[in-house]
Amino acid sequence: MLSYNSLPILKVKITIYIFNQHRTSYIKHRTFHYLCSMQIKSAKYIISSPNFELCPDPDKKEYAFIGRSNVGKSSLINMLCSNEKLAKISSAPGKTQMINHFIINHEWYLVDLPGYGFAKVSQTARRRWEQMIENYLRKRPNLTMVFVLIDSRHSPQKIDLEFLNQLDKWQVPFALVFTKADKETQAIVAKNVKAFLNTLKKTWQFLPQHFVSSSTKRLGKDKILDLIAEKNSEE
Ligand code: GDP
Repeated sequence: MLSYNSLPILKVKITIYIFNQHRTSYIKHRTFHYLCSMQIKSAKYIISSPNFELCPDPDKKEYAFIGRSNVGKSSLINMLCSNEKLAKISSAPGKTQMINHFIINHEWYLVDLPGYGFAKVSQTARRRWEQMIENYLRKRPNLTMVFVLIDSRHSPQKIDLEFLNQLDKWQVPFALVFTKADKETQAIVAKNVKAFLNTLKKTWQFLPQHFVSSSTKRLGKDKILDLIAEKNSEE
């Protein structure tokens, strides 16, 4: 049975009928479609796992967030869930290199993955991260989409492009989120987003869906949640 919380998205269709010329019957005049964004009613931290085998049972759709360290991942997760403290849990010492699960609306999992691109990590730590992330991304059966965060202030960075090429190779579905859009003018953000997509176009036939976000301006939230709601409503 569908409860209010599990309603992924509300699509409202309103059709207006008017009388015909002779006032003998109605004719269809216009139809409007309203899309009401998903409301996050509850967001709870569950567990931090050192590998994908120890993650919660894969019994719900799962959406993972990843990006270069400092890209604004915690801020984005907090904005999406309207909870300023949520992602702090996963950035606590000892949990930053783990797979952090949250349950949203008792219905789907949000996963905060450890970021890449730390300047001061050892080869061993980097290899451990690569192995953990690769296993998780390739083997987690309920992983529905990965949101890869890109800092909108910069021109295309090799490290992000390399990571996306890996996802493509592993056939992991993903979308891009260009973060911190309030930090530059709209024109600069648009230029950087275009440059990034153009770089992908050189080797890719299809471009991924992308969003522009700002956690301080609460930009991008509804569109990202709409995509998740749409995916949740699929069989
Ligand atoms: P993480 O390391 O990827 O989790 O990044 P954080 O969310 O901790 O953000 C890193 C820094 O960028 C913090 O100082 C945030 O306050 C700041 N930040 C993150 N998102 C935004 C944003 O959308 N706009 C602005 N102006 N600052 C942001």
